[in-house]
Amino acid sequence: MTSATIKVGRTRVSHVSDGVARGPRQYWFTGADPDEWMPAVGVTQPDAPFTVTFGGFVVTGDGHVTVVDAGYGHRAHEIPGLADAGAMPSAMAALGVEPGDVDQVVLTHLHTDHCGWLTKDDQGALTFPNATVLVNEREVAYWTSDEVDAIAFNRNGAGEVRARLRAIKDAGRLHTFDGELRLSDAMTVLPTHGHTPGHVSVLVADGDGAAILAGDALHHPAHVDHPCWLPSVEYAPSESIRSRERIAALAADRNAKILAPHFPLPTIVNVDRTPDGHVRSTASHDVEDVT
Ligand SMILES: [Zn+2]
Repeated sequence: MTSATIKVGRTRVSHVSDGVARGPRQYWFTGADPDEWMPAVGVTQPDAPFTVTFGGFVVTGDGHVTVVDAGYGHRAHEIPGLADAGAMPSAMAALGVEPGDVDQVVLTHLHTDHCGWLTKDDQGALTFPNATVLVNEREVAYWTSDEVDAIAFNRNGAGEVRARLRAIKDAGRLHTFDGELRLSDAMTVLPTHGHTPGHVSVLVADGDGAAILAGDALHHPAHVDHPCWLPSVEYAPSESIRSRERIAALAADRNAKILAPHFPLPTIVNVDRTPDGHVRSTASHDVEDVT
């Protein structure tokens, strides 16, 4: 399976895989007792592997063809243990979307597993030559500054990120913004900073339907109910917690499904409120189409 699609009003939101790994992820649950998080994840040992998807989303039906997060990219096959590595373009083609059709690319943030397909080779050729690439201005400032060196996880990928950004900028395709940004009458970018300085999420709302593409504000569905279980690589942990709480509250208030690139395919999270007002989530695998 390389894609899973849900309908949101007249739009179609497809989670598209750029590769699938099975690996341990203790570092996603820093500060939590393993006895608390292991049952929520479905493992019985802290170092037990579970399924992690890499990739992004394609949204169509609102007059645009928008990619939200762009996977590992053309060198995905170099990632040890990644099955279906670099599948995103072929998975998009199976949905009827060719690279030249894409007119907007939104990056929730610039970690290497989210901006890979900005370019399709080592020379910096653009994968989506007709797309405007939208990145929060704080995110671009961070990855082009020395501050990125303070977190090893970020420093190690900074060279690749800068090369990809440079290719997009040189082509006149980079658009930076701050705060909220309207992409169409169905899509809005929302600031959800913390995982990185300029991390954003995307709200898709059309008719009675809504979905939130949460990027790495949520690595695992269990993070919706447990905003304090944080990855060790967070730039601003307390801001991450607030962003997660905002996403969960928005999902409950708008009856929005939550999706994120690293959720196993196909996974959507539904959120409601308990009688005392707390948010409560349920993961579901009920989608319209898989390919
Ligand atoms: Zn990621």
